[in-house]
Amino acid sequence: MSWLDDDGDDELDDFDESRIRVRPNPKANRPRTKRRPAHSDAEIGRVLGVDRGRYQVLLGEGTPEERMLTAARARELRRTPIVTGDAARVVGDRSGEDGTLGRIIGIVERTSLLRRSADDTDQVERVIVANADQMLVVVAAADPEPRERLVDRYLVAALDAGIRPLLVVTKTDLADPAEFLRHFEGLDLRVFTSARGEMPVEEIGSALVGHSTVFVGHSGVGKSTLVNALVPGAGRATGHVNEVTGRGRHTSSSTVSLRYVSPAGSGWVIDTPGVRSFGLGHVDPQNILAAFTELAAIAEDCPRGCTHRSDAEDCALNEAAADGRLGPAGLARLESLQRLLATFADKL
Ligand code: GDP
Ligand code: ZN
Repeated sequence: MSWLDDDGDDELDDFDESRIRVRPNPKANRPRTKRRPAHSDAEIGRVLGVDRGRYQVLLGEGTPEERMLTAARARELRRTPIVTGDAARVVGDRSGEDGTLGRIIGIVERTSLLRRSADDTDQVERVIVANADQMLVVVAAADPEPRERLVDRYLVAALDAGIRPLLVVTKTDLADPAEFLRHFEGLDLRVFTSARGEMPVEEIGSALVGHSTVFVGHSGVGKSTLVNALVPGAGRATGHVNEVTGRGRHTSSSTVSLRYVSPAGSGWVIDTPGVRSFGLGHVDPQNILAAFTELAAIAEDCPRGCTHRSDAEDCALNEAAADGRLGPAGLARLESLQRLLATFADKL
């Protein structure tokens, strides 16, 4: 599997000071070692954004020494994607003063990873966000028309990554979302509704406290409007954008982390303008099933390799449904599970 870095360009890494090496004495026959100093003085910071090979890293988060640092990636990390949300190990000048440049020598093991592939069969993946624990899916009640399949794909991507999904339906002043929302009744999914002039800023905000929440949604659904309401000063471009050139959307052309602050506490909003959908080529069906705890317990009696789809023979879930053991709520959940499993059925 090949990894691409998020920004897709490496050329600026050529400025990386780690490139300046002391040439080994050609007469010495000691083999060159790839090992480097342990850098026990590395400090861990939060990557807030990436721009042309330069990383914005927050150090000393929540302390009086909190500061923003610009950092480059060490040369040996060329093949390691470093993305928004990563906990980076930084050495070098960490003052954050103008003109200084820190160096990222590694990243802390991620708790979650949101990826996309170019399409479902493309094995080349892009890492989008690291360490998020929630995903807020933004969909409009109208303009653009909501598509349940698209939301399903977001949900699958979130559940596969072990990220808790939340849903907000915007523009409920334009249409009633009740029918659309019925599709998601069988899921453990917190749903917010939002209308012009009636944004549920406090409700959504309280769900953000203590979490790192990645916002996803198709262009035009009102995601930037929502982010700006939640994070004053975020300055995410809203309104008319040229889908092809992306012009007019200058301030939201990359994935960034923004701090949500309220009297109840703080959290991180990770806005992802470039992500219209997720390829699901890498999804593990077990991760989807695991999100349906009580169904996963029943599925332990399934034959090996069971797809759990509605046409699967000897599937313990289908048997439980046929025997009336699931009840109406359980049936709705099984339907939701099977719909999500069908979202990437070609993988099974
Ligand atoms: P984004 O592409 O998802 O970031 O969407 P924007 O935040 O740029 O919003 C797209 C358009 O929808 C803008 O013209 C907003 O003013 C409009 N909009 C956002 N929220 C609402 C809403 O709740 N109701 C209505 N009627 N329009 C909205
Ligand atoms: Zn089964």
